[in-house]
Amino acid sequence: MKVLVLNCGSSSVKYQFISVDDKKVLAKGSIERIGMSSAILTHERYDGDKIKITGEILDHNIAIEYVLAVLLSKNHGVIKDKSEINAVGHRVVHGGEDFSGSTLITDSVIKILQDNFELAPLHNPPNVKGIQACKRHLPGIPQCGVFDTAFHQKMPPKAFLYGIPYQLYKSHKIRRYGFHGTSHLFVSQRVAELMNKPYESLKIITCHLGNGCSMAAIDHGVSIDTTMGFTPLEGLLMGTRCGDIDPSIPLHVMAKEDITLAEVTTMLNKHSGLVGISGISNDMREIIKSMNEDNKQAKYAFEVFCYRVKKYIGAFAATLGRIDVVVFTGGIGENSWEVRKEVLSNMEFLGIKLDEEKNLMKDGEREITTTDSMVKVFVIPTNEELLIALDTAKIVRDLTPQQI
Ligand code: ADP
Repeated sequence: MKVLVLNCGSSSVKYQFISVDDKKVLAKGSIERIGMSSAILTHERYDGDKIKITGEILDHNIAIEYVLAVLLSKNHGVIKDKSEINAVGHRVVHGGEDFSGSTLITDSVIKILQDNFELAPLHNPPNVKGIQACKRHLPGIPQCGVFDTAFHQKMPPKAFLYGIPYQLYKSHKIRRYGFHGTSHLFVSQRVAELMNKPYESLKIITCHLGNGCSMAAIDHGVSIDTTMGFTPLEGLLMGTRCGDIDPSIPLHVMAKEDITLAEVTTMLNKHSGLVGISGISNDMREIIKSMNEDNKQAKYAFEVFCYRVKKYIGAFAATLGRIDVVVFTGGIGENSWEVRKEVLSNMEFLGIKLDEEKNLMKDGEREITTTDSMVKVFVIPTNEELLIALDTAKIVRDLTPQQI
């Protein structure tokens, strides 16, 4: 089975065309700057053939047309006919409380997604645009939604309720949802395979550290707590997002700096985190470089970032009652030995003993703890697209004739 995986953002569409049976990426690419006169399509085939096209792509409907055209292209494509696409799997950011797993997209599912627009105003509308474009260009081909929030939907109320009037949860759905669920699920299942243990037997802490950062506490295959909240702003320090802060700070800043709600929202989402503290960059590589050149603010940014990951490992250890394994993933989690070293230093009391040499190893799936470490730590590259393709294939294989 071959699945087209789509991630439709506000001004971009990322895609991978995956042969599910051998888990092979046949082609992948992206269209950036949708809606502008100079949109850029980059496309790469499994054999390394690459193209880049610049032109006007006004909306998601035209963007999907381009993706299909390049997949069908005589010189750069991988299929001869659209019917070779057996299904489409969409990354959907917010499933609200309606989805605790991936689902076949029907008209009633689209309606629920639209009802949830308020929860993810930047992400869900382009997701739905992508779904509608595929309905138009690939009629009859099943589409599935794989939600960033779904894996966290089994959290208990004590983990998802905030200490605000309960009526706000009932009337406005204000609660912790958590995000990056596809990544947390992928790496936690993968680590169980690598450890050769049943997934349901393990207590796992996953750290997804990329531009956006979040952690999850996974107990017997269930995410029982996570650091992101009602929106992806809560929890860890991120590239440009502040993570946990005293909720009265935005109100105080609005009064002191005479700025609007929109401006303080931008400040917390775009000008905080690593870039906010360092004043240099949202990129951890730049932060580490400047820190090594004795830049004080860069050092603070690095330390706050690592301290918060460490703090949540402790919190989640208490929540889980035991840890079997910790997993690092995402651009920073996979690549920065410095961050892993700082986070995992002095954690012997929790049973974590970092092997400093293994921690320096690059690339691929690897364990980085000593042989006598009670708690194992792994680095596992995340692969959300593969999980979306696998989930989509599973749903489509199980469809009854009435559903097709
Ligand atoms: P996204 O959340 O956008 O998918 P990624 O998971 O690709 O982002 O992570 C991007 C971040 O990974 C970059 O901002 C950079 O800080 C970090 N990163 C990538 N390579 C390294 C590296 N070698 N050392 C430290 N940080 C790195």
